[in-house]
Amino acid sequence: MKKNRLSFSAVSIDTSRSEDNKHRDFRTAHRTGGGTPGDANQSKKMKSSTFQYSKFGKKGRGGPRKFGNTPMRRTDSVNVPPPAPGVIRIIPLGGVEEIGKNMTAIEIGDDIIVIDAGMHFSTEETPGVDYVIPNTTYLEERKDKIRALFITHGHLDHIGGVPLVLSRIGNPPVYSRNLSILMMRKRQAEFPQLPKLQENIVEKDHVITCGNIKVRFFGVTHTIPDSMGVIVETPHGWIVTPGDYKLDQVDGIVSKEEEKEYSIFDKAKVLLLLTDSTNIENEGFSLPEIKVHQGLENLIRKINGRIIIAAFASHITRLAYVVKAAEALGRKVVLDGRSMKGNIEVAIEAKYFEPKKGTIIPIEEADSYPPNKIVILMTGAQGEEFASLNRAANKSHTKFQLHKGDTIILSSSIIPGNERAIERMKDGLARQGVKIIGYRTPGEDYVHATGHGNQEDVKWLHRKTHPKFFIPIHGNHYRLVLHKELAMDVGMSEENIIVPDNGSIIEISPDGEKMYLRKEKAPSGLMMVDGVSVGDSTDVVIKDRQMLAKTVCLSSSQ
Ligand SMILES: [Zn+2]
Ligand SMILES: [Zn+2]
Repeated sequence: MKKNRLSFSAVSIDTSRSEDNKHRDFRTAHRTGGGTPGDANQSKKMKSSTFQYSKFGKKGRGGPRKFGNTPMRRTDSVNVPPPAPGVIRIIPLGGVEEIGKNMTAIEIGDDIIVIDAGMHFSTEETPGVDYVIPNTTYLEERKDKIRALFITHGHLDHIGGVPLVLSRIGNPPVYSRNLSILMMRKRQAEFPQLPKLQENIVEKDHVITCGNIKVRFFGVTHTIPDSMGVIVETPHGWIVTPGDYKLDQVDGIVSKEEEKEYSIFDKAKVLLLLTDSTNIENEGFSLPEIKVHQGLENLIRKINGRIIIAAFASHITRLAYVVKAAEALGRKVVLDGRSMKGNIEVAIEAKYFEPKKGTIIPIEEADSYPPNKIVILMTGAQGEEFASLNRAANKSHTKFQLHKGDTIILSSSIIPGNERAIERMKDGLARQGVKIIGYRTPGEDYVHATGHGNQEDVKWLHRKTHPKFFIPIHGNHYRLVLHKELAMDVGMSEENIIVPDNGSIIEISPDGEKMYLRKEKAPSGLMMVDGVSVGDSTDVVIKDRQMLAKTVCLSSSQ
């Protein structure tokens, strides 16, 4: 198969954005757990859970596409002076006006480090492109100062932009834990024309020196193993960001392991906390993943027929648990769907778990085992047109048929916008005489939980880290504002909190006593990737595409 070619010549930089464009809500917020949002790698144009590792587009592409006829302009940020001696500069470059494409830069003296380089799937507001990455102009112009890229975990809203971003910012070394590095390696392999990843596997006790900046790590609980928080040392205390996290707790009692992980903050002086706002609207603690594990295991034990579990392929921790539980209960496991297979493969390669030989069988062999000896893990819980479960529902799956008496467990929430597709799929399933269990089906067994902390998890983190300054990240604007209010509820004063936009340049004074927003802004126009080229676009191009999309919608709905 021909590899994607990315033409980097077709790049333009445009910082001009209209006012109404400024707080654009990309509405990608795919939701998990009782209507709470999760990771952007679970959402794409069709809000698919199956996109991990798939190639860019299914639409045939003729060659490099141009981004409209508007002349390419290059506007840069040369007029932003370097930080004054002793100043700490923090620039959220992505993920603060949307859920997705997370990226934050920290600049001290002559050194810049970058945390995460995510992507964000195209939405109705960016029609015609495959995905969007953070605007890296500020970094491109300061390439020689960039010492490292740190990746908190392997979800696409944190690693999805890595190949393209790295090639634009001078290919600095990348640091992350084992599984995340493997996932990046796999993604990088889709871009053979790009230089090799300068990868470095780190663990919690490592201290990395980047120029004059020291960086260390801590482990966090999320839906993918090897998730880590990043700590940047400064003369005035630590800058802390946990990446995506929820607490390992039951009924509000945080586990010993989790307490131990966070105990490093007990005596630490935390200068600044930057943290996730995804679930800031949800009260209480997040449902612990362990309840979902128990729920699924109970169901596998209790159901006396074939079980098909449809889940987000990004929830690797859960998928691995299901494989282990099925194995322990004497069932064979079939993996169906490219991202499902790919992610389990990476987890095995990372030695996160090791199924016995013969536990995982090809789908073609499923019918040669009795129904109560089979569990099938599938993609397609969102009713995506071409995903495995939907094909089974509409009988277009070439290798698999449903049987009366099968049980389908939808181990996911409903991403807003996908309601009708899911209903249609469930109709198709029900017509074939199968039983459907969803996360709202009454009963004891939980089948889904969000990967992000709710309000109580977030408050716990604030209290634990007791920061002097706070910048809410990971969320669209109203979520960041709610997070600011929550921080004030737990005792922070308003002047110590800044709600940023993408490209905001925030500084902490040389004495560590004040945090303020500079009047200049780093370029933050959309950087769009359409599979063959990357570039950002003027509003004109976006509007053209929106009109085109509307026309298409109109004619297809009539
Ligand atoms: Zn995320
Ligand atoms: Zn995540």
